[in-house]
Amino acid sequence: MSADNALILNRSQAAMARARDVIPGGVNSPVRALRAVGGDPFFAAGGDGAWIYDEDGNRYVDLILSWGPLILGHRHPAVVQSLAGVLSRGFAFGAPTVGEVDLAEAVRRAVPSMERVRLVNSGTEATMSAVRVARGFTGRPKLVKFEGCYHGHADYLLVKAGSGAMTFGTPDSAGVPAEFAAHTITLPYNDPEALRAAFAAAGDQIAAVIVEPYVGNMGVVLPTPAFVEALRQVPRAHGALLIFDEVMTGFRVSYGGAQELLDVVPDLTCLGKVIGGGLPVGAYGGRREIMDQVSPVGPVYQAGTLSGNPLSVAGGMATLGVLSQTRPYERLDQAGARLCAGLAERAKAVGVPVTINRIGSMFTVFFTDRPVGNLADAKTCDTEKFGRFFHRMREGGVSLPPSQFEAAFLSIAHGEDEIDRILAAAEVAFAAVA
Ligand SMILES: *Cc1c(COP(=O)(O)O)cnc(C)c1O
Repeated sequence: MSADNALILNRSQAAMARARDVIPGGVNSPVRALRAVGGDPFFAAGGDGAWIYDEDGNRYVDLILSWGPLILGHRHPAVVQSLAGVLSRGFAFGAPTVGEVDLAEAVRRAVPSMERVRLVNSGTEATMSAVRVARGFTGRPKLVKFEGCYHGHADYLLVKAGSGAMTFGTPDSAGVPAEFAAHTITLPYNDPEALRAAFAAAGDQIAAVIVEPYVGNMGVVLPTPAFVEALRQVPRAHGALLIFDEVMTGFRVSYGGAQELLDVVPDLTCLGKVIGGGLPVGAYGGRREIMDQVSPVGPVYQAGTLSGNPLSVAGGMATLGVLSQTRPYERLDQAGARLCAGLAERAKAVGVPVTINRIGSMFTVFFTDRPVGNLADAKTCDTEKFGRFFHRMREGGVSLPPSQFEAAFLSIAHGEDEIDRILAAAEVAFAAVA
């Protein structure tokens, strides 16, 4: 694609040529390759607050923010200082450290349903561990998930997954034997009747329902009140557990996560992204008697050489510290509201139909004229138009997620100036794709 002609990406292109020869597709996570929108990715060289810099010296307002973790923006001083402290003391011990207890306690204070918390290294580890615990606790094999929700890349969770898997149109990954996915029941999101029917058919076999309470991974999709009510009631009525995958929404939509906003008490919760402040991390936790299934207390095995490593814990503690002291969620919500209203206005002015879904500081501009409440709705989007919009935005100095089916994020470092900058770029970009 030649849409990014206006941008000079020589060094990035040279790096990508080397990368393609040694790393599959040149990237260590597929969506970074820009396949959904065409063109070459920029190679990041640095970041500062709301801004990200590439190897060619271009700078962009960053709306990816490492795919969610950087709610404080790049290199927040509190995080930098916390990491520097770890570097001066030692950064891997394989013995328990006080920081891990501090972080687990901070998580529990914020998310009281997580009575016991286990730290892991990624969101994927958190979800696969939570599912194992749910199966161990209930003694049942089956799992309910929803189309378009992404819960990491474990075999049985890559069934009609969203995120990168959907972007590539191969929701069922190769390399997953059919038997491995056979215990996964996939239902449409926001469909309480489908959930009831699944439980009516196989309720005594279902260990858990796992859900993104606000979806980020087919783009942002909000749950209807009826769906939330069904999530609250149906699994419990059949002795199954409710797992909230808050890897994206945890500490993002509010300090207590989606469960605080929706007033739901899940049995298990998965976290990641923000709780590492940009370092690799994940966590899962829930009711005491459920989590006491986990080894070494109980029979469900789960371990990690670098789990709870001091750098990740320090990044997370510093981030949660700033969030708990400043409680920026109202401000983030207002920034999101102003940005999305401005985007809608500019799209409308040039006759580009869009539906913008938003919760707090996460949002998606869907290139469709329909409301988007599930995967089928999201698939009505004009992804070719989105691709052209993406490139025009990048030329205008704004880095959007390179797929129609992803959430964009704001941080506390995105001020009025950055929002004006995004809107100015969007005015040009919408006009160009109209
Ligand atoms: C990002 C994400 C994951 C996977 O986390 P990784 O750290 O990438 O393994 C799982 N669930 C949700 C909802 C996510 O957004």
